[in-house]
Amino acid sequence: MIIHIDPSSVSCDHIKQFMFDFIERELDGRLLMAMDNHVLSCEECQVMVKNYELSVDTGRKKISKTIKLPEGFKNEILKSLQDFTEEDDN
Ligand SMILES: [Zn+2]
Repeated sequence: MIIHIDPSSVSCDHIKQFMFDFIERELDGRLLMAMDNHVLSCEECQVMVKNYELSVDTGRKKISKTIKLPEGFKNEILKSLQDFTEEDDN
């Protein structure tokens, strides 16, 4: 699928709108990278992608293999998500 988004202006709306193609990696490579970067820095989109993956439940887990997380970064995200969840419980 060819869509024209300026990779430097990827927003949550773009992730939402093109979630399927993003998960399936059916977009322009530069755009996919920009979307990966957005998702990595956006907790809202991380949750969105996770929920999408759970809802489609294909068992392919494509995105978690495709996104290359820098060493330690994943732990930081998990930790901040954990903090977020703990705060939410109060
Ligand atoms: Zn976002």
